Amino acid sequence: MSFDYDLFVIGGGSGGVRAARIAAGEYGAKVGLAEESRMGGTCVIRGCVPKKLMIFASQAGLMAEEMRGYGWAEAQAGPFSWETFRDKLDAELTRLELIYRAGLSRAGVEVHDQRATLVGHHEIALADGTRKTARHILIATGGRPAPIGIPGEELAMVSDDLFLMDRLPGRILLVGGGFIACEFATILAGLGVDTVQAYRGDAVLRGFDREARDLATLQLSAVGVDLRLGLTPAALERSGEGIAVTFDDGSREDFDAVLMATGRDPYTRGLGLEATGVAVKPNGAIAVDDWSQTSVPSIFAVGDVTDRINLTPVAIREGHSFVDTVFGAKPRKVDHSIVASAVYLRPHELATVGLTEEEARAQGPVDVYATTFRPMRSMFAGSDAKVMMKLLVDPATDRVLGCHIFGPEAGEMIQLAAIPIGMGATKAQFDATIAVHPTAAEELVTMRTPTRRHEGPAGGAKG
Ligand code: NDP
Repeated sequence: MSFDYDLFVIGGGSGGVRAARIAAGEYGAKVGLAEESRMGGTCVIRGCVPKKLMIFASQAGLMAEEMRGYGWAEAQAGPFSWETFRDKLDAELTRLELIYRAGLSRAGVEVHDQRATLVGHHEIALADGTRKTARHILIATGGRPAPIGIPGEELAMVSDDLFLMDRLPGRILLVGGGFIACEFATILAGLGVDTVQAYRGDAVLRGFDREARDLATLQLSAVGVDLRLGLTPAALERSGEGIAVTFDDGSREDFDAVLMATGRDPYTRGLGLEATGVAVKPNGAIAVDDWSQTSVPSIFAVGDVTDRINLTPVAIREGHSFVDTVFGAKPRKVDHSIVASAVYLRPHELATVGLTEEEARAQGPVDVYATTFRPMRSMFAGSDAKVMMKLLVDPATDRVLGCHIFGPEAGEMIQLAAIPIGMGATKAQFDATIAVHPTAAEELVTMRTPTRRHEGPAGGAKG
């Protein structure tokens, strides 16, 4: 049977674009790709990239404060123009989108700027009514913000909307304690917005190392976020130009805007999964095996729509591995066991790779090497912001099981720490590395004695 394409990709985000470009450009496959929105997906257009630029924009006040501590007595951030920033941001995103499109076109990928749905194991329907056949189909449609089902929730923004605001709100409520809520609380407070963050738990960033979470929780308040723990909204209603929020403790407050950051769902609505018999997990994510293959052999899926590890570089690796396997005769699985990540807070980021202390001790004995200190740079300026570095080591094998950093540029540090840890490095090998002085990162190779040892799930802690 002959097909219109060797591969048809649904979704022009990080995973889909990578797969399409490599399949066509490196392996000579005939590839089509459909994207219903801007090319680049969540990361480039509505996530990582604009968010990180906003993080940079938001740190002017902290930098000025630090510089006053170095003798620049008059240092001030001055007024911020959201309009100027937003217009520049839009131009930058357009530039990046064009680079994505140029890469696809150079590789020979045929792009369809419209929605595509599955109608068969080898067939796609485009929004304009045409149908295309393909030997293989890749679903890379990503995720969408997940509503929590409270009355009036539709009045709130989701993170996609933030980058498009006409003006900054005077007072905003952020709901949630995950990546997005914490990063945007940091950003908005840094830009001078009166920022309230309501999180139902007792420390933000559940799933991260507890000690690092506690530091992140303290830092949010220290940078001016009015963080309310153990609190979540029960209902939203319009109140003049703003939104009145009733919380689960019965209290009620007015805000100019509300941002829901309560997780994301796989984006599969109306995709035609039922019609084609592609199996999904209970949360709606597409079920795939280690090769990103779905229950239908000709259909594969990568990225957030499969809800494995919802991070851009993971989607890219999944897309590339799928193409290497299917079109390049180089079978390649993705190792999801050790993936580093960072939460871009200010002044200190939280970055992590491997097991948390809680996960490690649940598995067996673990030595914890941890240090908390005031780094030279900010201490000199008069700040008491603390850095934390932690290594978790298996006492039986000396292997480093996890690393957690709360500090300036922790994201940059963890990228490098992830290399030896991914290679299975031992603590002795960390110790054999001569320090780079003076840096904060040198602590990672100079922590000589364990701070405490956990004897395992049944045992206690010593140290
Ligand atoms: P997260 O899953 O990180 O956080 C969701 C938050 O919403 C949690 O604090 C959760 O609370 C809370 N929540 C969930 N349901 C409810 C509810 N019914 N009522 C009240 N609170 C609720 O999702 P985000 O939306 O922050 O981010 C989505 C994903 O995007 C992340 O998981 C991450 O993969 C990715 N991302 C990565 C970034 C990075 O790498 N720097 C940056 C931004 C996003 P609880 O913890 O109690 O369940």
